[in-house]
Amino acid sequence: RAKERGKNTFQFYTAELNVRAIERLKLEYALRRALAQDEFELWYQPKVSLATGAPVGAEALLRWRHPELGMVSPAQFIPIAEESALIGAIGEWVLATACRDTRRWVAEGLFAGRMAVNLSGRQLKLGGLVDTVRAALADSGLESDYLELEVTESVAMDDADGGQVGMLDELRALGVQLSIDDFGTGYSSLAYLKRLPVQVLKIDRSFIADLSHDKDDAAITTAIVSIAKSLGLAVVAEGVEEVAQRDFLAALGCDAAQGYLFGKPMPAAHFEAYLAAQRR
Ligand code: C2E
Ligand code: MG
Ligand code: MG
Ligand code: MG
Repeated sequence: RAKERGKNTFQFYTAELNVRAIERLKLEYALRRALAQDEFELWYQPKVSLATGAPVGAEALLRWRHPELGMVSPAQFIPIAEESALIGAIGEWVLATACRDTRRWVAEGLFAGRMAVNLSGRQLKLGGLVDTVRAALADSGLESDYLELEVTESVAMDDADGGQVGMLDELRALGVQLSIDDFGTGYSSLAYLKRLPVQVLKIDRSFIADLSHDKDDAAITTAIVSIAKSLGLAVVAEGVEEVAQRDFLAALGCDAAQGYLFGKPMPAAHFEAYLAAQRR
């Protein structure tokens, strides 16, 4: 009987593993199809100067318009894309599309400043990223100083001793700007930060959310702005939703901000209309 039960347990276990493997395979397959059938979209969120309120750039944010599920959040599918190395192809599509759209808006006299594109850790490790960025710039005709690449703190700090910093240096040498996303949520060595070829710190949204009510968040935000200034880096706040948050950040001398207060991420056509309206 024990043998029997053992066998059943084993069968149950393999059945469950299979279900999970199949779910993953399905998702991978769906992501491949999404690329082939143009189900991905880039949405754009404006970034504004805290001193003047004028747009100083934007961030490109990936969206998946799934035929049955509707809009799927990148938080849900980027991790699976990273596990399956599909992130390479998706990342290429994102870079090419962001550069092409930005080039068009620059040519139309609508866009100034920088377009920020998110890079994932796996994308940096896959190899070929520098060539991908160079090709996206060349194919679109976008000048490199219109492009900004965001990496998270953990990714930037990841290999003090190796290739990743070398790659950031190579990207920087192309003339693109580099920023650290979600700053304050990882472990940063400040000494190390100084040696990274980055120009911008983006304060994570989690510190901004309760800025007006939470003393600790206010203290952390103040410290990050101060660190950025001492290191000669620009500083951008993410997730600004309220006037009180904007005023606090402006008083600190934070350079720029992104958030629902200024504009939500929007499809390319809406963003173009937003840019046109801002110019008038
Ligand atoms: P992120 O790069 O930190 O992007 C900021 C996120 O905050 C975006 O979520 C944006 O929609 C959201 N956000 C902006 N302002 C506000 C606000 O005022 N309030 C609130 N509640 N949220 C705000 P989203 O678009 O869902 O993207 C989530 C994450 O997915 C991004 O975080 C980024 O890490 C990743 N991601 C997005 N697009 C790409 C991409 O093309 N490639 C890669 N590798 N990752 C991407
Ligand atoms: Mg980002
Ligand atoms: Mg962020
Ligand atoms: Mg993030």
